Amino acid sequence: MKDNYSVYIHIPFCKARCGYCVFSSCIDLSLADKYADALCREMEFYSDKSLPIYTVYLGGGTPSCLPAAILNKIFSALNKYFDMSQVCEMTVECNPESTTPQLLECLAENGVNRLSFGLQSVNDATLKRIGRLHTYGGFVAAYDLARKYGFNNINADVIIGLPESESDFVRTVQTVADMDLSHVSAYALELHPETPLYKTFPQNARYSDDALADMYDKAVQILSDNGFARYEISNFARGGSVCKHNLNYWREGRYFAFGAAASGFVGDVRFTHPFGLTDYLRTDASQMHCECETLSARQQAEEYVMLGMRLADGIDVEYLSRRYGCDFFNAFSNADKLIKQGFLQCESGRVFVPSDKFYVVNSILCELLN
Ligand code: SF4
Repeated sequence: MKDNYSVYIHIPFCKARCGYCVFSSCIDLSLADKYADALCREMEFYSDKSLPIYTVYLGGGTPSCLPAAILNKIFSALNKYFDMSQVCEMTVECNPESTTPQLLECLAENGVNRLSFGLQSVNDATLKRIGRLHTYGGFVAAYDLARKYGFNNINADVIIGLPESESDFVRTVQTVADMDLSHVSAYALELHPETPLYKTFPQNARYSDDALADMYDKAVQILSDNGFARYEISNFARGGSVCKHNLNYWREGRYFAFGAAASGFVGDVRFTHPFGLTDYLRTDASQMHCECETLSARQQAEEYVMLGMRLADGIDVEYLSRRYGCDFFNAFSNADKLIKQGFLQCESGRVFVPSDKFYVVNSILCELLN
């Protein structure tokens, strides 16, 4: 069975650290050129022209903070070492403050056709408090500029549960819903003890799980009233503009991955890179895949189910059997019970979590995979 192969490239640079960040990212941009060279060496080592690449995603970090010359180097390597003739979607994550005409020109010239903006909130006081460098006005200016440069497939990320009032959050969702965006991602804030915001936004000031669930429901309602279909728990697309790259992950597709902390899935092997920039830079390209695991058919079937249940249209039972030799109802013996209880639904050969049960998907998965 032929897989769709995607490429993920991690750019671990940002102009400043956000108060909640646990990603692989550093603010020393003087290392960016050296990093791009290491990425190119890695791409050369894992070069494969036999598989047409389906989607490309530059994430971070903040890819938009790289100078055009460095981005050009990375795109050239991609074209040199992979078959890019059939790429249908190329996304770059951008922060508003680094979205300049030079950047947009460079991205457009290199075939980028989707941008993902980290907006998070439209409330400037919130943005400041969480350490973001942009203002809401800056986001609107970056968005308008992107449209001017011909980008019309644009996502905005927002965060549920930031240190702001519920009405600030609702205003954020209403604002993005009113814009001409094609996609919105809404993730709940996860605070880790090692981050500065963990201390300045103490436990007793944070939203309860119930309050977060209410805010999520409101977001779903506002977005759906404005033509955004929820196709994954946290992702909403207008006019069918789903993120093909992320869908490939959720459908257990295959992907190359390059750069610090990047995880990939090639053939039957899942692998991860060294997390920190320094470790990445001192590792030889041939040794980059520091954690490798070969997945059995059963493990892959479980992953397909686990990831697929996050999608509104769930999993394809026939595909599961054809691809992994796995009969869904035999392999997951609690499935029938969950269907009877209304936690799963089976229709036209697909099994999925009904939309009003999405908020308990993790518990449903625990029961199903038990
Ligand atoms: S922009 Fe993203 S990666 Fe960079 S510091 Fe903020 S949260 Fe971390």
